[in-house]
This record gives sequence, C-alpha cells and structure tokens, in this order.
Amino acid sequence: MATHETLIQLDRLERAFPDLKPLYGDGDAVAEANRCLYCHDAPCTAACPTGIDVPTFIRKIATGNARGAARVILSANLLGYSCARVCPVEVLCAGACVYNDWHRPPIQIGRLQRYAVEKAFDDGQAGTLFRRAPATGKKVACVGAGPASLSLAGYLALAGVDVTLFERRAIPGGLNTTGVAPYKMHVDGALREVDFVRSLGITIQEGVEVGSEVRAEDLARDFDAVFIGVGLGQDTSLGIPGEDGPGVYGATAWIERMKLEPGFAVLGVACGAVIGGGNTAIDAARELSRLSVPHVLMVYRRTAEEMPGFRHEMDAARREGVRLVEKAVPKEFIRQDGRLVGILLDDGRRIPADLAVVAIGQTRPRDLAAQFPGVEVDPGGRIVVDRATCRTGNPKIYAGGDAVRGGDLVVTAAQDGKRAARAICRALGVQIAVDAALNAGHQ
Ligand SMILES: Cc1cc2nc3c(=O)[nH]c(=O)nc-3n(C[C@H](O)[C@H](O)[C@H](O)COP(=O)(O)OP(=O)(O)OC[C@H]3O[C@@H](n4cnc5c(N)ncnc54)[C@H](O)[C@@H]3O)c2cc1C
Ligand code: SF4
Repeated sequence: MATHETLIQLDRLERAFPDLKPLYGDGDAVAEANRCLYCHDAPCTAACPTGIDVPTFIRKIATGNARGAARVILSANLLGYSCARVCPVEVLCAGACVYNDWHRPPIQIGRLQRYAVEKAFDDGQAGTLFRRAPATGKKVACVGAGPASLSLAGYLALAGVDVTLFERRAIPGGLNTTGVAPYKMHVDGALREVDFVRSLGITIQEGVEVGSEVRAEDLARDFDAVFIGVGLGQDTSLGIPGEDGPGVYGATAWIERMKLEPGFAVLGVACGAVIGGGNTAIDAARELSRLSVPHVLMVYRRTAEEMPGFRHEMDAARREGVRLVEKAVPKEFIRQDGRLVGILLDDGRRIPADLAVVAIGQTRPRDLAAQFPGVEVDPGGRIVVDRATCRTGNPKIYAGGDAVRGGDLVVTAAQDGKRAARAICRALGVQIAVDAALNAGHQ
C-alpha cells in the first residue's frame, strides 16, 4: 500500500469519479447565500449534530466574509471540510430547511459550507483561524486517527493538551480516507483535512496498532486520558459455500482498494451484485455503475421499504441504473472452474454475477475494548459510554464514533470527539478552547 506522501501522485481508480456536487465559485456562493431567510429558530442548526450556527455562517458568505464563515463552521465542527462533502444533508440540515415546506429547493448548506472551508484551506490560513492555548503539560492518547479521534485531538490541541494518535494504517483519516464514496470526496481531500488538524499541533503515529505494537495498559498508565476511536472492524461474511475465492469481496475492503490501491481495476465485469441494503451497499452499487459495469444488482433480503439505507441515496442509485432484487437471500456463490458466475438464492432463483460485493456489516471492537480494564461492550459489541461525556466505565478512558454507535456518520463521530474533548478538559482541569462552540450540538 502506498504511503501518505506518494498517494496524491499515483494512478488510482477513484480518479474516475468526478465530484457530484462541484465547488461553488464566489458568485454562485453569494447568490445561494442570499436565498437564506435567516429563520429566527434556525431548524438547520437544530438538525446539525454538531450544532453549526448555519444562518450566521451563511450571512458571512453573503457579505463576502468567507474566512469568518469558516471560523463559525470549524469552531463547532473541526471536520467541517469533510462533513460539507459527505453529510447526508437531505436528512440533516438541508432536510430541515423551511423551503422544503414550500416545495422549493432547500438552501445548499453543504455546498456553502464547503465553499467557506475550502477557501480558508486554499488561503493556507485555516490553521491561523484559532489561537492555541499555552501548553498545559497534560497528555492524551487516541486509538485510531479517524473522524472521532481527529475531532477530539484538534480541540484538545487548541486547549494546550499534548495529543498523540496511534493509527494502525499507513494513512490517517479513517473511513473518510478509505471508505467514503469518491464522488463525494477523494483521498486527497480527506488527507487535506488531516493536515489541517495536524497544523493545530497534534502528533499522528502511523502504522502503529494498539493492542499489538503498543499495549493498551501502557497507554492507560502513561497518558492522562485515552480516547478509543477505532470505528468498526473487518467486513462480515455470509459464511456460505463459494464465498472464498476470486470475484467475491467484502464491501469496505473492495472500496478501500478502489480508492487507494494503485492499478486496482474493474475490467470485463458484465454483472456486479452487491449484497446488502444499507448505505455501504448502495455506495458500492453506485460505484460499480459509475465504473461502467453494464448490469449492477443489489441483492437484499427484505423489501425496498425495509432497507436501512437512505431513501434519497437509493433513488439516486436507481437513476444510475442499479436494479434492486428484493427478498433475496444468497445460499451459494456459483463457480465454474473457480470463476464466479452467479449467486443461488434460497428460493431457487439464480442471479448472474461475475463480481460480488458483500455489504452486510462489519465486526465490532470487542477485542480491543477487553484490553482496557473497566471498558465494557453491549451485547451488540459496541463500547458502552455515558452519552454526555463519552466516558467509559473506566474514568480515564473515553470512546466515541462508530466504535460506540455501531456504524453511523462522520458528523456524529465529530460530535462525539467534541463532547469527549469537553469532558476530558473538565476532568483534567484544563480551560476549554473555543468554548461557546464546544457546547453546541446534540448531547
Ligand atoms: C463505505 C462507507 C461509506 C460511508 N459513507 C459515509 C458518508 O458518505 N457520509 C457519512 O457521514 N458517513 C459515511 N460513512 C460512515 C463514516 O465513515 C463513519 O461513521 C466514520 O468514519 C466513523 O468515524 P470513526 O472515527 O469512529 O471511525 P473510522 O473512520 O472507522 O476510523 C477508525 C480508525 O481507527 C483505526 N484503528 C482501528 N483499530 C485500531 C487499533 N487497534 N490501533 C490503531 N488504530 C486503529 C482504523 O484504521 C481507522 O483509521 C461511511 C462508512 C462506510 C463504511
Ligand atoms: S456539518 Fe453536516 S449536518 Fe451540520 S450543517 Fe454542515 S453539512 Fe449540515
């Protein structure tokens, strides 16, 4: 696998995906901002898990103050860059916009957010939007360098805390780097955001796995607090005959290769089948379709109405040619001379497929949690925390993001990081930086 430095130059399949929602120019951004009605109760802000003051940042864009807008956004959500691109705004901020009630297009909040933050990044001045507090002498470790840990680390760094993130991959960013659909954000975008958080004064140790190379008990002993932001684990398999072998992939593993592996190709595939009905399944199906696979099927065990994936994403997938096979439970992967040719369902139907992507979930962080004394998991394998503080049963150990939620969103992981940063600052007697914004968002 390529390293952080070389990735940008390398030829990777994700480059075949143009931006679905391209960056606004100055004129378009100001025109869109001027549509905002500045509602007194700001339903958009209430619908944002991080509580970004949406009307205020939009007003700043309307008056040509993009840097001021970026400060409003990033103080409530340090991952405002990626969230602008990957948030399902249809069910969050933009979904709450009053224009929807009048059957008119909602304000394009995500695109305006992207415009403001990207402008601050382009100026190379984003790191100077905030002033870092003097060093406090306190040290915090994060396990993983995904959105939850990055959000936490950035806020703590601003408060003068020395933060080290241990990331088992060679490249940081978590699923923002390895999983998010490339038509929303490319790897270099995710790494740009990591560099921004790094510029606030954090340290990332890449290629270091906690639990093997670094012991959990050493972290708990050597640091004032530890945050577990490990997300989820490997793809879950179906456990049916024919699954092991060429042509059948776990979804996140396939997406990661498509995004990161130089020279990885999808050639000569006539029919791609994606098994599952969640957002990862929909993403994989849309990606296959956009890679010009002629027939893309989603194989789901229940009906369309029961799919856990977002309706708007599935509607987009259908428009792009993806077909849904409902009430379909795979019984066997059919192979001829070792080559995948189809899927046999339990009702006897056969689905042609020369590529299958299994998107039925990922494992939970049980093993790592067990290495930290006092950290418990629920029956579903999610780490148990106090929701207001993200603190586990061990008062020194905090956790957030997918490891706690069992698979959610970048913006909720960012909010968990913020919440944990606030709680850690209080526990360590450290003055909280960017105070007002740290208190914003869902509890
Ligand atoms: C395919 C896919 C597409 C998605 N698309 C979207 C989207 O469009 N919009 C959206 O909002 N959300 C999306 N999500 C969900 C979103 O990516 C996650 O909710 C979010 O990334 C969770 O952040 P996290 O920090 O908790 O975990 P992760 O992003 O999983 O990061 C965890 C990090 O911890 C590291 N790690 C794990 N174990 C160890 C260890 N023992 N030692 C050191 N490091 C370790 C991992 O390598 C990883 O880098 C998607 C998810 C998937 C799977
Ligand atoms: S972070 Fe996401 S949900 Fe919140 S305002 Fe921005 S785009 Fe909307």
